[in-house]
Amino acid sequence: MGATDDVEDLDELVGYLTPREDNEKIKSYQNTTAVACPICGDSFDDLVVCRAEETQLELSEALDLCVTTDEAGRPFLFTHKA
Ligand SMILES: [Zn+2]
Repeated sequence: MGATDDVEDLDELVGYLTPREDNEKIKSYQNTTAVACPICGDSFDDLVVCRAEETQLELSEALDLCVTTDEAGRPFLFTHKA
């Protein structure tokens, strides 16, 4: 068992989400089933998983983000619409 902060089952969580974008920089998923954010406990809108360490996300809207990393160190960004 690795050190995973408070989030234990990111893979399982992703399984409940609807895949949207999948490119060399990110994978994104829409939370169509109102899964609770593992960090703050509110339901989130989208999950963005960064593939590259230096991915820069262009967020056009003001969004609240909850961020964690998986065991491989990839950032997982949970977005909440402001
Ligand atoms: Zn959150």
